Amino acid sequence: MSQDILIIIYLISSILFIFGIKQLSKVKTARIGNFTSALGMLIAIVATLFDQKIVNLELIFIGLLIGSLIGAIMALKVEMTAMPQMVALLNGFGGGASLLVASADYFKEAPTEVYIAVTIFLSILVGGVTFTGSIIAFGKLQGIVTEKAVVYKFQHPINLLLLLLTIIGGVFLTIDQRTSSEILSTIGLGFLIGENLLITIAILSLIIGVLIVIPIGGADMPVVISLLNSYSGIAAAMTGFVLGNAVLVITGSLVGASGIILTNIMCKSMNRSLMNVMLGGFGSTTASVGPGEAKEIVIKEVGAEELAMMLDGASNVIIVPGYGMAVAQAQHVVKELMDELEKRGVNVRFAIHPVAGRMPGHMNVLLAEAAVPYDKLYEMDQINDDFSNCDVAIVIGANDVVNPAARNNPNSPIYGMPILNVDKAKTVVVIKRSLNPGYAGIDNELFGYPNCLMYFGDAKASHFKINSRIKRTIKNKLFLNYKGYYVTLCFL
Ligand code: NDP
Repeated sequence: MSQDILIIIYLISSILFIFGIKQLSKVKTARIGNFTSALGMLIAIVATLFDQKIVNLELIFIGLLIGSLIGAIMALKVEMTAMPQMVALLNGFGGGASLLVASADYFKEAPTEVYIAVTIFLSILVGGVTFTGSIIAFGKLQGIVTEKAVVYKFQHPINLLLLLLTIIGGVFLTIDQRTSSEILSTIGLGFLIGENLLITIAILSLIIGVLIVIPIGGADMPVVISLLNSYSGIAAAMTGFVLGNAVLVITGSLVGASGIILTNIMCKSMNRSLMNVMLGGFGSTTASVGPGEAKEIVIKEVGAEELAMMLDGASNVIIVPGYGMAVAQAQHVVKELMDELEKRGVNVRFAIHPVAGRMPGHMNVLLAEAAVPYDKLYEMDQINDDFSNCDVAIVIGANDVVNPAARNNPNSPIYGMPILNVDKAKTVVVIKRSLNPGYAGIDNELFGYPNCLMYFGDAKASHFKINSRIKRTIKNKLFLNYKGYYVTLCFL
């Protein structure tokens, strides 16, 4: 196939990628967006196989076969809650591939043009950091590497020094090779000439990847993974320059840009700066209040019977899912609750916080799996003002994303984080197993609010009980709520 035709085909696949990303930004078109992007990738792969520069098609097919098989098995077997570590692995492989391809290009023939040498260096640096950083992120989420932040003295200066050394190595790799050899020999580092220098840079990059991720706690890994996803895109774009492959430059840039946008959205929704995440140590605190401010809260419990009757008497119900719903895999019973209430004429909606759960879109994916219609899902900004008109807000396994301390308590670590205003509802019912904190490790003052009722239990098991009680409730009764006291009048 001629290079001109190849370029046109690459352009078509790039357009498909861009359309695919656009479609992915809306729940309704996300499925077709996935298909559009996958089609773009298929076209790009098939076109590349016809590239005259390819020297060994057999090896490529063997790799394709093994890779596709492993990928398909992993995708089929992975649990929804383990999706972040799966993404981490995929990012890591992307970074590793960029490192290998750029190194292979250098070994084939040392570049004479400076910009090629610079892109080889950047592919190796960013690819190497992405590879080991992602493997550590995977290990932390999988429980293979300690989830705790590993901190030691002079950690950041050591990381900076290693980065500086790598960049100096990069300078020697890109300047004129004779000058580079002369300087290195003069300072007694003659053994670092040419390929040895490249291998040293690769090793340093791999070490940096481990060292920058190891001090970050396991709970912050989704943000790190999103950032590493962006890095893997940047590394791929650099490799695209090395190979002179336009589609790799475009797709790498798309991944790089979308990854950094997502990282930014996640940080904003958590009211954290990227620097704060990258420096590590978040989530180890257990107090939500400042010194001397700790206060006892009095909580009120509700049982399945009472809750069922309360819901039966409601007109407007907003369900707020969180990480606990994902852990309990309660999405199907939550959908059943929605169906039962709708049969009784109750208006049921879902309020989705951008960082509910442990990965972006976590709740949307779970609820879609349970066939909750898209138009029932409302983003925080769309629904937050409606909580004051809501009879019952049901919080299922969510904690931080409904903690009013984010609004009221300047001493709280989550102060400033936008939250769902469930406390403004007439009644808010929180379904979780205990008073234990969530990801941020802080107490939730909501649990002591006069309009808040706690239903203790696993989200799935609790819903089985609540749903079966609702199915038994009779229509002809009146439910009254006066200052947190509940009276049910039944008309037989
Ligand atoms: P939280 O982590 O704040 O709280 C989850 C709650 O679920 C816990 O308090 C726990 O309480 C409860 N829970 C756990 N298992 C069960 C179960 N089986 N049944 C019922 N409840 C259960 O979750 P949120 O979704 O409210 O907040 C997400 C947090 O994660 C935010 O702080 C966000 O910043 C952070 N985060 C989110 C990311 C994202 O991309 N979505 C990425 C990185 C961090 P108990 O043990 O008492 O049951």
